[in-house]
Amino acid sequence: MSTDHAGTAASGLKSVTIVGASLAGHASARALRAQGFDGRITMIGDEVHRPYDRPPLSKEFLTGRATLEDLALEADDEQLDVEWILGTRALSLDCPERLVTLSTGQSVRSDAVMIATGSVARRFDRMIDGVHTLRTVEDAVALRADLVPGARLVVAGSGFIGLEVASAARALGVDVTVLGSSQWPLSRTFGDTVAATVQRLQESRGVRVRNNVIVDAVLGTDRVTGVRLSTGEQIDADVVVLGIGSRPAVGWLGESGLDVRAGVVCDEFGATAAPGILAVGDCAAWFDPIRGRAHRIEHWTDSRDRPSISVARLLSGRTPRQGLRPSYLWSDQCGSRIQFAGRLLGGEELTIEAGGVETGDLLMVYRRGGNPVAAVGFNQTRLMAQWRKSLTVSAASVSPPATVPVAEPLSQPFGA
Ligand SMILES: Cc1cc2nc3c(=O)[nH]c(=O)nc-3n(C[C@H](O)[C@H](O)[C@H](O)COP(=O)(O)OP(=O)(O)OC[C@H]3O[C@@H](n4cnc5c(N)ncnc54)[C@H](O)[C@@H]3O)c2cc1C
Repeated sequence: MSTDHAGTAASGLKSVTIVGASLAGHASARALRAQGFDGRITMIGDEVHRPYDRPPLSKEFLTGRATLEDLALEADDEQLDVEWILGTRALSLDCPERLVTLSTGQSVRSDAVMIATGSVARRFDRMIDGVHTLRTVEDAVALRADLVPGARLVVAGSGFIGLEVASAARALGVDVTVLGSSQWPLSRTFGDTVAATVQRLQESRGVRVRNNVIVDAVLGTDRVTGVRLSTGEQIDADVVVLGIGSRPAVGWLGESGLDVRAGVVCDEFGATAAPGILAVGDCAAWFDPIRGRAHRIEHWTDSRDRPSISVARLLSGRTPRQGLRPSYLWSDQCGSRIQFAGRLLGGEELTIEAGGVETGDLLMVYRRGGNPVAAVGFNQTRLMAQWRKSLTVSAASVSPPATVPVAEPLSQPFGA
């Protein structure tokens, strides 16, 4: 174990509680140990499982090509010396005392608390049999049982999760219709040109895509029989998946005094306004000096990588000045790996750098004022790796404002 950072002695911290035992929570424990912290780490998670990976839930786990064991985030020989409290919900946080109260009636006091409670899928008020959301392994198991060949699936929402479910369901021989409220699927993330390519990809596998429609009710008494659109039109369905977005899992922080308006508001290193309280992963709204405001990024790579920045801040008290990597996401749909890196603020120019719209191996670059700010690739993993590197900008060139205004995410989160 490397001890090249401040660690326990320099920070004076003897105990850290991590709330949320998933990707960002596990990455936080890893970073604490890697940076020399040898005090007590307590990890609280309301799921009964040790940390597991969510991206396969809408891909190979849904199609039966991966098992729960394949999803484990911990390495086989990993020894983080963590005290696990699983199947237990954190109910409240007293910031000055750094005291987390649990659903068991117990409480855990420590020198610092890292909040890593992620997001939850948005649902309709009325959820009947055959209507699904997809966030947990139990959700995926229940959905898989309904995806039998010939079943009619309606996906409400044309974001990442809805489109990945559509793709997996087609592979299982299911009849699929995607109903989205935007101009094109994923147009909020990619802009219309790229989003039209996503639609063509889905249609090439037999997915029906309808845009500019709003699903406002599920139909059926005990079991779903269809959906109703805002126009009154009804569409028959045996199974419905709601891919209508997510919200940060911050309800338990209501009395904490933290700013949780659009996620847990933090500075650009994950520190909240309360001493010793940090937030990481999907639930955290970090200050982004390029956008000039705090916002949430609900993507795997940020959730895994940012905790080490927060831990450095926690253990050393210093504010690491390191290159800001561009935000990054990937999505597997209909045999294509879609990757995106960078930040879009709107109004960028888009050019095709490699491949072509007809060949399915496209790479496009977004430019602002002539400078590349983002890239998107379809089956262009090698070129995308190069673009990710070149899009890294120096944080030193950015002077963050003193205040931390908050905004809803500009890029489409994975939960949407
Ligand atoms: C189906 C699916 C597919 C995805 N695919 C991709 C992809 O292809 N590419 C990509 O970039 N991203 C993808 N993502 C997004 C990525 O998985 C998330 O960004 C990542 O899981 C966020 O990690 P996290 O630890 O912050 O939150 P989560 O993974 O949501 O974990 C938070 C944990 O905290 C627990 N918790 C919540 N409240 C409490 C409480 N009060 N007390 C105790 N525990 C609590 C939750 O139950 C959960 O276990 C996908 C997400 C989903 C759901």
